[in-house]
Amino acid sequence: MKNLQIKCTRCRHAHTEADRIERPRPRRSTSELQVYDRVCPRCGCKNYYDCTPQVAWCWSSGLIEIGDAMPADSSDGGGAIEIASGPKYALDAEIGVLARHAYQTGKLLVPGVPEADTPRAKGDALARWLAWCGKRKSRDGVVWAHMTEVPT
Ligand SMILES: [Zn+2]
Repeated sequence: MKNLQIKCTRCRHAHTEADRIERPRPRRSTSELQVYDRVCPRCGCKNYYDCTPQVAWCWSSGLIEIGDAMPADSSDGGGAIEIASGPKYALDAEIGVLARHAYQTGKLLVPGVPEADTPRAKGDALARWLAWCGKRKSRDGVVWAHMTEVPT
């Protein structure tokens, strides 16, 4: 994880895990073990956002998943559809706000897709949701996929 792409939460300086500097943590006494914090080279802040590029996709069930790369088709032949991409921290946050959370499992769902009963209705529900998500101005580099609604 040495070359994790990160961004300082305080000054927003973009750098990598390897760029961070070690800063000795103040000790109460000389017998206390010296601990070092890895901090932002610009402002010394300990906290950062994980900017690893990630992609988000959904299945025909409406289930949303996020990972490093698009998955292979499922065993029943159904393919995943890419819905968005961006740095990990921003993608997690935006999808967490815009998706529906399943009550019992906590899984993320595209609104309207689980209850749609035809492939066409599922596609329409996904297209409407993506159009709605795409209207948001993301300051953090999340890019939503576009789907054009297919005429009957
Ligand atoms: Zn900083």
